[in-house]
Amino acid sequence: MLVDVALPLPLFRSFTYSVPDEQRHRARVGMRAVVPFRSTTALGVIVGEGAPREGIKYKAVRELPDTEPVVSANILALCRWLAEYYLVPLGVALRTALPAALTGAAEPTPSQKTRRVANVARSLDSLMQRDEIFARVPRQRALFELIESLGGRAAVEHLTERMKFSPTVLDGLVKKGLVTIEDEVVSRDPFARRATGKPQRHTPSSAQQHAIDALRAGNAGDVFLLHGVTGSGKTLVYIELLRTIVEQRGQTAIVLVPEIALTPQTVDRFRAVFGDKIAVLHSALSDGERYDAWLALRRGEKRIAVGARSAIFAPLSNLGAIIVDEEHEGSYKQGESPRYHAREIAIVRAKAENAIVVLGSATPSLESWVNATTGKFHLLTLPERVGGGRLPKIEVVDLREQQKLPQGGGAIDPFRWVISEPLERALSDRLRKGEQSILLLNRRGYASFVQCGSCGDVATCPNCSISLTYHRTPERLVCHYCQYSEPPRDTCKRCGGTFMRQRGLGTQQVERVLAERFASARIARMDVDTTTGKWAHAEILDRVGRGEVDVLLGTQMIAKGLDFPNVTLVGVVDADVGINLPDFRASERSFQLLSQVAGRAGRGPKGGEVIIQTRVPSHHAVRCAVAHDYASFVREELDGRVKPPYPPNLRLANVVFSGTNEDATAQLGLRAATWLNKLVKRSGVDIGVIGPAPCPVERIKARWRWHLLIKTEHPGELTRLGRYFLEKFAVPKEAGLRITLDRDPVALL
Ligand code: ADP
Ligand code: ZN
Repeated sequence: MLVDVALPLPLFRSFTYSVPDEQRHRARVGMRAVVPFRSTTALGVIVGEGAPREGIKYKAVRELPDTEPVVSANILALCRWLAEYYLVPLGVALRTALPAALTGAAEPTPSQKTRRVANVARSLDSLMQRDEIFARVPRQRALFELIESLGGRAAVEHLTERMKFSPTVLDGLVKKGLVTIEDEVVSRDPFARRATGKPQRHTPSSAQQHAIDALRAGNAGDVFLLHGVTGSGKTLVYIELLRTIVEQRGQTAIVLVPEIALTPQTVDRFRAVFGDKIAVLHSALSDGERYDAWLALRRGEKRIAVGARSAIFAPLSNLGAIIVDEEHEGSYKQGESPRYHAREIAIVRAKAENAIVVLGSATPSLESWVNATTGKFHLLTLPERVGGGRLPKIEVVDLREQQKLPQGGGAIDPFRWVISEPLERALSDRLRKGEQSILLLNRRGYASFVQCGSCGDVATCPNCSISLTYHRTPERLVCHYCQYSEPPRDTCKRCGGTFMRQRGLGTQQVERVLAERFASARIARMDVDTTTGKWAHAEILDRVGRGEVDVLLGTQMIAKGLDFPNVTLVGVVDADVGINLPDFRASERSFQLLSQVAGRAGRGPKGGEVIIQTRVPSHHAVRCAVAHDYASFVREELDGRVKPPYPPNLRLANVVFSGTNEDATAQLGLRAATWLNKLVKRSGVDIGVIGPAPCPVERIKARWRWHLLIKTEHPGELTRLGRYFLEKFAVPKEAGLRITLDRDPVALL
């Protein structure tokens, strides 16, 4: 007996092995197999029966570790589609669909069940006191203030490993009696222990009811786009649909959210209603726990899988619905091979398994919008906020006006560079009334670059063509692409100048100027630097929910899914971050971010307002977000993607060439373009090959990068061409040269 085995290798083929007689009754499609490969062994999945070929002696399968298939026929078919569409080997697709514990990719589970935590033991109120106590130990002061800014509590590991404080600095604080250290038991599954409270029982509004009815009446394979403004009650619609699917029809369902850690409130609502029918697949699970959840879903003990991107492969049978919340989110696209988009996989899976799909968003992706308006998807709309709530009024502050030099000379108050007069007034008003505010600045660190005042030179990363970001705690220049860091510079490397200017605001700087101006305000900062711990997001958000935070400041992390009725003000410190990136989706992403963060304001009876600071008030991303005008945004944005054409007006693949040598990389790109152009010409199909050109970020992690774009209106042709290219085009074995092909890219950087 022969079997075909797919291996997770960069080869577009399966491998045939023989099964020893005593094993043959055990071997089935979908089981894993350990097979000899070259001089070692490899772990793959049996994908079919092998066809014997004359004169070939096949090697024997070494081991069959499973007693029943781990890949169902449905998931195998889904992976075949994924492999074909995204141009990856089947074995690579299968590895993605299985939990790490089954692919041999699992890391050993850490046995540590406690962690050491530093707590502020004594607060220091006056500045004088601080100056005195820390006179000769600035590092101790920096550490103390860091722990304060993390809510007075921080994991020791975070402080020493990530923030690079030496343990002696921490000891110093302990000896002074300012900080205590304790051991804290780490719960195995923090989500399972979260209290959920009682399920909310609202009577659906008529718009909600209409959507619920339409979904209940949906036919197998139907895709619905639920376009509901922020606060329109999309979650209730999902929950009512799930009740029907899971409780009345006895089927199962998948709920995708962009990131569990950022949406604990949404997930809690599902848990409150469905309790232990739900498996929450979050990133804090160990590989073992993830495997347990996977098993429970496969056995039907759990009937709803809630998770990020990879939950789309949940081993559920009798699937009734797949919900994709915030369907426009870029995180649904995997950034490494296989570069699949979970929304696309959801649609294909639902069709194959006779389920329906619900794509929900206040700001749908242009792709989904076009599909909904051309009748491919069914459009459902929730045009208003529930419970008589109104969308918040949005005011624009033109920073060019605010930051004009005062007449008759004098300097501008440095605070004004960060917070305009209207925003300051609004903030102090909220502080006085005990209401909460959210401030968005989508850039972490203290200053986004450091520039020499004499020659204009900017400090850049030695490995990446990117400027280094200045961080204050710990004080380093850091590369946000490769994590390279170095001590801050006092003098310019190029001209020796001694006036180094910090340019470009980051969240650390905003936090500092706020703390100086509003001394008694309780400020929490949420960005990559304050959320190393897997559970850090939820801790901060829970504090906001309990009213222990006056101002929540953060990057895009704070823009999604939060529902806090006492937040009556949202301020955008600089709406222009990212708006001019050399990427065809830059405007779309900016519009979505502004609309989403604005949607956090005024969710309670007190109402709310939004203030957006910008230097480009007439940019359509800003203008349409301010007017809550999704339709106009889409119209203008689609027009902008006609000449030159970009998705959704056609299909796109981004082919990236990279290597350690600049010239070899460029040559590879040029050769590939010539090769592709010849092929296209010969075959006569309507495909454009644009480029090659250096990528917008020309170098990352010491590798040079070039790219070319393949554009076409015929997806099938793109599949054929891409596949032929990846299989036949020879990449020289030099300079670490590599080619990656990203189909339907979400970014071209
Ligand atoms: P969205 O996801 O559309 O932004 P949510 O689903 O978070 O909105 O709902 C916003 C708030 O409105 C939630 O606090 C929710 O409990 C509440 N809500 C939902 N439906 C109703 C309703 N029919 N009547 C009153 N409140 C509702
Ligand atoms: Zn770098």
